[in-house]
Amino acid sequence: MSNLGKSGKIILASSVLSAISIIAVKLTIDLFSMASKPTLEEFVKIRLEQIEEESLTNMTYVRDNIENLIKEQERVMNIKHFGIPYFRFTYRDSLISAISGALYEQNGDTIYFFPTQGMDKKKILAHELGHFYSDKLSEEIGNGNWPLNNKKTQEDDKWKGKKLISEGIAIYFAKKTLKDTTEDIGREIVNFNDYYEGGGIFSFYEVGYHVIRSVLDKYGKKGIEYLIKNPPNKKQLDNIKEYREKCLRGLEKIN
Ligand SMILES: [Zn+2]
Repeated sequence: MSNLGKSGKIILASSVLSAISIIAVKLTIDLFSMASKPTLEEFVKIRLEQIEEESLTNMTYVRDNIENLIKEQERVMNIKHFGIPYFRFTYRDSLISAISGALYEQNGDTIYFFPTQGMDKKKILAHELGHFYSDKLSEEIGNGNWPLNNKKTQEDDKWKGKKLISEGIAIYFAKKTLKDTTEDIGREIVNFNDYYEGGGIFSFYEVGYHVIRSVLDKYGKKGIEYLIKNPPNKKQLDNIKEYREKCLRGLEKIN
């Protein structure tokens, strides 16, 4: 279904652009209201004030909502979270912060919440809590940080498979928490290696959910544990439907 894939790229690209344009529009309005063309110094000052304001909003949001969100997630996912992660409200001038709004760092069990305007804070947190849960579960079963996050990550034969599973789980957490029943694009693909060639980093987000959904629907925590222990290797990524079937068969045997 290459057509689905192509339209998927367009939708994703436009959502990236809209995230960036939200920032740009706000900045333009602020600058427009100034009498004369701003100097670089004034431009930087305005941006810094926006960052500060948004960081404070994010901080307040987390303080007021994190405990309830964790409880809600435990209920809908039928899991027990491993406490509350650490948070940092920091600014990163990068494309990834404009797209995702946050980042989970495994070594410090920390969610970096970026001051990105116009994004759904609950959705962002629900997604990052999925990363937090998988990482802590992996530590609990003696598997260490998950997925591995260091300079050697991309030398690991399974890094692509781990990233695919990891983002799939996080998206599953967000969808369940927000009761979002919409289907994602890109689900019909078979060969992830081929798809990745054209889609790059976005492919993990587009495809991951569809690889893991039936496993988590049926096995929940046990399913996550299994996927963490058995991420697809490079060869298995040539046929992710077959990989999923193998996981379901494997889990059926254990349970
Ligand atoms: Zn993620």
